[in-house]
Amino acid sequence: MPIREKLTGFRFLKWGRPVSVKKAAGYQWAIKPWWGEFRNPQLEQAFLQQHTPLIAGQMQLALLIWAALMLLFAIPDYLSLGLNSEFLILFVMRISTVACILALFVAVGFRPHLATRARWISLVEIIGISLFMLVYIYRPDILSWTITVTLLMILGVLALVPNRLVAAVPVAFYMAFLTALVLELLGSLNVTEFIGLIVVFSLPIGIGWAGALRANVLQRRQFALLQQSKQLNEELACEIEVRKQLQEQLQRQATTDSLTGLNNRHQYEHLFAHELSRSMRQQQPLSLGIIDLDHFKRVNDTWGHSAGDEVLRRVAQLCRENFRDIDILGRLGGEEFVVLLPDTALEQAITVAQRFIDTLANTPIDIGSEKIVVTATIGVVTRQADETSLEGLIKRADAALYKGKDAGRNCVMSG
Ligand code: GH3
Ligand code: MG
Ligand code: MG
Repeated sequence: MPIREKLTGFRFLKWGRPVSVKKAAGYQWAIKPWWGEFRNPQLEQAFLQQHTPLIAGQMQLALLIWAALMLLFAIPDYLSLGLNSEFLILFVMRISTVACILALFVAVGFRPHLATRARWISLVEIIGISLFMLVYIYRPDILSWTITVTLLMILGVLALVPNRLVAAVPVAFYMAFLTALVLELLGSLNVTEFIGLIVVFSLPIGIGWAGALRANVLQRRQFALLQQSKQLNEELACEIEVRKQLQEQLQRQATTDSLTGLNNRHQYEHLFAHELSRSMRQQQPLSLGIIDLDHFKRVNDTWGHSAGDEVLRRVAQLCRENFRDIDILGRLGGEEFVVLLPDTALEQAITVAQRFIDTLANTPIDIGSEKIVVTATIGVVTRQADETSLEGLIKRADAALYKGKDAGRNCVMSG
């Protein structure tokens, strides 16, 4: 938590006033009560981005319907006025409005994100509404319908054309005011009636506003819920991953020797027991070797304990590279390693052990300051038919190992 929040107990959000840290979590999803948009501009942007194709489609449909109605109502114009100059003025007005509408239709087709911006649709609406007043001026025969037409158009502007409420409401008020003004100028209204008409027009504005607001809030709540559940899922996936890694780490720590990474005593005893019973069941040979580094004490005494550790690590690595994947390696303790060779008879085991001895003797180990040659002695045994315990095998391998030490080291001795 940032220090400023800790000290004050308030979170200073980019948008709006500071809120208490407690409230801030809920505030992140807060919706503006009048306009039904997220308070957080980034969140609103994300919402609009996700809904752009839908909004663009709805806007194009609304524009098409508007353009079609504009053209269709040229017929009553003609029937009422005939082919005179007034009809032509109205016809040019209708064609101009349709041109504006279609321009926006095409623009939204190419750039759908324009449908999420209030300015373009509002501009077309203001132009369309302003030009439409000519109908009221040149068609006195429909004067009694004017209020109904304006009411419907106000509802259309608020409920059918997708636009930000913050822009659509002023456009609706503009339309109400302009209609009242035109009627006033045409001399059919006195001041009281003018004010009364504005009040009457406020009704569809209120209804349209409330309806659009409800839809906005519902859509955003749904979006917020979706985002929250996505966030929770991500956190959960993260938590699961961390726990998995922790479990793997614990498993590694519990089963391996920390210096060499080989199986620790507990683990290799477990694995050996499994192999022993398999070998007895399937009547397969099973060999075991104990590897002991020669004069390792001297390595520690001459180059230090950490050089000794490095040697142990390198020898363990060489073991891994030299023996087969199915062979089981473990650190017996100190500078002694053990290897179990499943399905391997004594002769093969001796060959494998000798190959390891040779590789080790021919691989100088880099201990930083210099490279040193380390040798090892290996005692190798194979399970005898009546042998059913590991201790017996290890004991015999140990005895063979000491025979090898006595014989001069750097050799393989079987027992
Ligand atoms: P030999 O050829 O008879 O096996 O001689 P050796 O010196 O290897 O035999 P010894 O068992 O007397 O010495 C083993 C040494 O290994 C003693 C101890 O200091 C060292 N050692 C045991 N564990 C570690 C370890 O984890 N790190 C290091 N650096 N040395 C260790
Ligand atoms: Mg030893
Ligand atoms: Mg030794």
